This record gives sequence, C-alpha cells and structure tokens, in this order.
Amino acid sequence: MDKVEKTIFEFSSKGAGTYKTVERDLSAFEKRIPASLRRADLDFPEVSEPEVLRHYFRLSRKNFSVDEGFYPLGSCTMKYNPKINERLASNPAFTDVHPLMPVEKVQGCLEIMNELSEYLCEIVGMDSCTLSPVAGSHGEFTGLKIIKEYHKKMGNDHKDVIILPDSAHGTNPASASMCGFKVVEVPSDKDGGIDLERLKELVDDNVAGFMVTNPSTLGLYDKNIQEIAKVFHEKDALLYYDGANLNAIMGKVKPGDMGFDIVHLNLHKTFSTPHGGGGPGAGPVGVKKRLHSFLPGPLVEKKGEKYVFADEPVHTIGRLHSFYGNFLILVRAYIYIRMLGEKGLRKTSERAVLNANYMMNKLKKVLKLDYDRTCMHEFVLSAKALKKETGVSAMDIAKRLLDFGYHAPTMYFPLIVEEALMIEPTETETKESIDDFCKAIEKIVEESRKDPEILHNAPINTPVRRVDDVQAARKPRTNHYLDCRSDV
Ligand SMILES: *Cc1c(COP(=O)(O)O)cnc(C)c1O
Repeated sequence: MDKVEKTIFEFSSKGAGTYKTVERDLSAFEKRIPASLRRADLDFPEVSEPEVLRHYFRLSRKNFSVDEGFYPLGSCTMKYNPKINERLASNPAFTDVHPLMPVEKVQGCLEIMNELSEYLCEIVGMDSCTLSPVAGSHGEFTGLKIIKEYHKKMGNDHKDVIILPDSAHGTNPASASMCGFKVVEVPSDKDGGIDLERLKELVDDNVAGFMVTNPSTLGLYDKNIQEIAKVFHEKDALLYYDGANLNAIMGKVKPGDMGFDIVHLNLHKTFSTPHGGGGPGAGPVGVKKRLHSFLPGPLVEKKGEKYVFADEPVHTIGRLHSFYGNFLILVRAYIYIRMLGEKGLRKTSERAVLNANYMMNKLKKVLKLDYDRTCMHEFVLSAKALKKETGVSAMDIAKRLLDFGYHAPTMYFPLIVEEALMIEPTETETKESIDDFCKAIEKIVEESRKDPEILHNAPINTPVRRVDDVQAARKPRTNHYLDCRSDV
C-alpha cells in the first residue's frame, strides 16, 4: 500500500509546542457571535518548530515543479518563472496597498496596469484590454459575453452559434455553452488545418462567432487564417482568438492582423507567471476598437499626468471580478515583458519553436507523428502503433516518465489524435535537458518491447503509485485528516 503522509495533527503531542498565544478578553466578541457558531476549544496541533518545518519541507519535496525539473505539459506552457518577478512583486509597495486606497496613493500601481494593457494590446494587435479576468477560461467567458452583447446591440439576437474546430481546448465549448451559445464543430483537414470547404458550408447568418487558436492545439499554424476571417466577417460574425499559448508567435505575428476581433491571453502560460495548483492566474482580454464599449471595468486611463479609473464603458458586460483581478500576477507579467523587451519576446518565440522542432524530429523516430509538418511551440505524438504492438499506452508512458523524474506530457488531447502525448518544451529548456528527456522516452519505448509489465505498473519510485483516476474524479479525498476522523 502507498505510504500516506502523516498530517500535522497526527504527530502532535501535548506540550510539544513552544508558543502560546496571548490570552485576550474576547467577551465583547462572544456576545456578538451566536453560541451555535462558537467552540469551547480548538484542536490545534502541538508541535515544535523543527517538526513543523521538517513536515512542510518534506511535503514540498513531494511536489513536482518547474524549479525541480522539466515539465513538458503541452498547451499549458509550464515555463520557468524568473525569480526577479517574485522578488519585485513581493515589494511592500505592491503587497501593502489596499484596493480601496485613493488613486493618488497608488499611482505606480495604476501606471503598471495602464502600461501592461498597452503592451499586451501591442503584442496581440488589439486596441484596448481588460486585466480583470483571472484565468484563460474566465477570459473566454468575458470575450463570448462581449460577442453576445455586441450582436444584441446590433439587433441580431438570432445569432446564437459559435463555431470551433475539433481540436479546440475543452474550455472553449464549455465557455460558449455557459454564455448560452450553441456549439458547432468544424473538422480538421488531413494536414491538421481547418477544413475550409466544410467551414464555408457551416457559416450562415445564425453564426455569432468563431473561436480558435492559431497555431492550433496540434501545434500547427493555419495559413488560411485570413481567408477564414473573411468568411466570418462577411456574415457579420466575430473572431475570437484563444491566446492562452502565445509562445510561438509573440513578436512575430499578431492575431489582430490575422483578422481577429477579440483575444484572451494566459499570463500564467506565455508571460511566465506561476501556474499550477489552481491559480492564481490572469486572463486579460483585448478587443478591437468597435468592441471597446463592451469591456468590463475597471479600466485605467491617463488624464494629463495622472492615472485614474475610467468611466465604465457604455455597453459594458459588467464586472467579472472584485476590484482589479490578480494584481500581483499582473505585476509579474509586466516585469517579464519589461525585462525582455520587444527583441527578447521575439527571441523567446523563436527559441520555443526551435526547441519544439528539434525535439519533435528526435522523437518522431520512436513514436508516431500523425501530422508530420514543421510545428510551432508544441507537437503531438501518438502511441497508437506502439499500443497495438506492445500493449503499452500513452498513459503507461506518461506514468513511467514520473519514475525518470519528469512531469508527464499532456495526454489524450487533442481528441483527434489517438493515444496522444502532447509535448511542449518551451524556450527555457536547454539542449541538454531536451536530449535527456528524449533519451528517457527512447528508453521507455525500448522497455515496452522488452518488459511491458514495468510500464503497466509505473510509477514505481513515487510516494503515491498509480492513482485511480475515476475515483479521484468522482470521490476525491482532498483532506486526509478529515477523512480519517470518524466524528466528521
Ligand atoms: C490553458 C488553456 C485554456 C484555459 O486556461 P485556464 O487558465 O486554465 O482557464 C484555454 N485554451 C487553451 C488553448 C489553453 O491551453
């Protein structure tokens, strides 16, 4: 059985704790809080400082992170988080401000928000931008609400269809449905691009918009994008660019020039802010001028020498988040952009694409590549043939990689590739670390032919062995301590 880490409560022993909180007179509070909500005592663990420290330090070493090793999670862009971001974002000038402070006192913060908006608009070719959405999917929701309100205002309430490709990220159809749209899928053609002929048949007057990422989730750039944009604009439909991963095109080509009207960006992917464990993230949304009046507030603007909050845009879809989104994440992205500058951002894209192609060309010799074209920042391998030959699946390969000290690639996505392993090295990996990873994959494929049982049982070196994915999704045990206590 897997060893389960003791909780801090379990190795508590009476009197071990060296700290005592100061006794306070709480009678005034007690009167205000109903007795049913009060507890006579609180079950605090009693542990010494070294024990607490060792406990959390040990736990921290069980977490995999980009600071520990290569994290080739395709589509999620787990790039290195520069430490200067952390250092500067923890400056009290940023951490000790309150969202309700008068604007005169937080001019620097507003300046950062204003400049970051301008930089992001410049990068994606949009005219204005909201920083308040706190995830990529939150940005999608924002953009689709804008599409909805735009058509309503134009008297086109009947426009209720969003078209998206069969390679779309799962959040795309989910966001469209949440905004009340019907979702229609357009198939990919044999080269992994959008099937243009099929698309033309699908686009009619009921179509409100098109939602796509280019390069696609196959890591392939669709050269027909401007023609595709024309098909939609002719029917007065809007184009939404899912810019979660801008790592291949930053400084190279702008979604605005491809014909897009709305773009969201994941600062926690492309712009190096920490990512994982559920947040906090940031998914700013940029729009073309004609959609500015639909943006959610608050928007910062410069009046003379002073930064202020602008009036709410006249057709605003309403607020999406309390106050200003995840401000400290915005600060990190701002620092990243300022550190790299225009040239640095372009180089980042070039290097990300170079790394991915280098790796793809090594690995296509050991696993199958369904769409064998120059890729952008990521590529998708298939273990279908290997599974047929040896019984070893993409899941087995991914689990075995954990034994080699790597995070697994994205698996079984996009859905149009069977037994998919989607790999994204990012620009921050060196040739040596990429070579080592490729060697691990080669070794695993070798093992699959010699001793497939090892792979079915992997991982064998991790504190927790293979988890039951179905149970984990249906009946998650998120708190070992509470689960173990019979009285809760
Ligand atoms: C990650 C991702 C999203 C969703 O972003 P979240 O911040 O996880 O909500 C959307 N689209 C694509 C292509 C992505 O890679």
